[in-house]
Amino acid sequence: MEQSSLIKPVLGGAYPTISHGQGVFLYDKNGKDYLDASSGAVTANIGHGVQEIIEAMVKQAKQVSFVYRSQFTSDAAEKLAGKIAELTKGELTYSFFVNSGSEATETALKIAIQHWQEKGKPKKQKIISRWMSYHGITMGALSMSGHPIRRERFTPLLESYPSVSPPYCYRCPLQLDQHTCGMACASELEASIRRIGSENIAAFIAEPVIGAAGGAIVPPDGYFQKLKKICEENDILFIADEVMTGFGRTGKMLASEYWDVEPDIVTLGKGMSGGYTPIAAAVMTKNVMEPIMKGSKSIIGGHTLSANPLSCAVSLAVLEYVERNELVEKSADRGNYLIRGLKKLAGKYSFIGDIRGRGLLIGIEFVLDKATKAPFPKDADVTNQIIELAMRNGILLYPAAAGLDGVTGAALIISPPLTISEEECAELLMRVDITFGQFNDSIG
Ligand code: PLP
Repeated sequence: MEQSSLIKPVLGGAYPTISHGQGVFLYDKNGKDYLDASSGAVTANIGHGVQEIIEAMVKQAKQVSFVYRSQFTSDAAEKLAGKIAELTKGELTYSFFVNSGSEATETALKIAIQHWQEKGKPKKQKIISRWMSYHGITMGALSMSGHPIRRERFTPLLESYPSVSPPYCYRCPLQLDQHTCGMACASELEASIRRIGSENIAAFIAEPVIGAAGGAIVPPDGYFQKLKKICEENDILFIADEVMTGFGRTGKMLASEYWDVEPDIVTLGKGMSGGYTPIAAAVMTKNVMEPIMKGSKSIIGGHTLSANPLSCAVSLAVLEYVERNELVEKSADRGNYLIRGLKKLAGKYSFIGDIRGRGLLIGIEFVLDKATKAPFPKDADVTNQIIELAMRNGILLYPAAAGLDGVTGAALIISPPLTISEEECAELLMRVDITFGQFNDSIG
């Protein structure tokens, strides 16, 4: 009987079946190697097949893999919460563990609402978010996501949370000049708050560097400071969604450190376990948790597998690995190396419109015309064409939405494991160059 795990077919057939992974490479059953330049979905931050993580996994599995979070805690969960508090700046001391980034952002949404309820402000229920954002696929998380393609089929079921324009300076949504705009896109938060009423708003959520919904869009300096100030002035919690940027990806432990803003809640996932096991978290400050701890004393949230000791032990081992091997610094370094290399390629290929990003979260936006920034026709499906060519050439790239409407643009993300060596970066650039060369030939 033919079996299928229902994954989308590419390359005109089925996905290759992967046999094993080591470092920055994955190998399929036919022996072909793939340089994992996307870390899967920007997840495999410490690369594949790391022996110490496997050992930590086996050690914990021999002790206990699962206990139910409403009956027990575990050393692994407590140590992981301690490590997260140590690695994050400021007052982020309370971790609530879940199993995916979507659950983490949805938990953050609920905790923000509960925070205000316990403070006697039950009307504060709405969330504000930005267009060109992705906070997850479950209904609450998707409601917060300004990602038109992923919202489209479910629109009637979703809340209309996104209302603020993104800091997409390559194509300013407000058609302003970056040097004179006064960050009008950040001021839109103020206007939104006035329209909705701060007495109705629990939180504002944003990704410090926009990932899948924009292709590594980095805001200008001062942008997040301005947003945080508006939140504070209006009694609105600031949630930083660091599911993609968390733990070293951008060259800082958390990307919000770049702008010295202290979020009230941070959401984490992906690189938190480097993909070795599912785990994610919403991490709160004392200020957020105090009314809940003095009030009902319990968070209305959580899942059966939340805080399971196996995932917690693996995540702890991954975070210790990141620290011990100075991967945050390496990410900044290798990111600069790759951006320099990609900018050289931008000089060679007319369809590369923009190279952007921080550390090893790098975006490339493709255009039909560099001068006018005109996008390729949507049905040319440029991003997927390039990704498929890349896969044939043994290099994995990650698609991103782009364009002012989040639909018409074409972009992708380069985000190899933070462990990548300089020689492997050179190999990555070579395989990208070959791929872009073939795409160039295909468009004549
Ligand atoms: N938040 C951000 C910023 C993400 O990039 C993602 C996934 O890409 C999510 C949330 C959702 O995470 P998950 O796919 O683990 O549910």
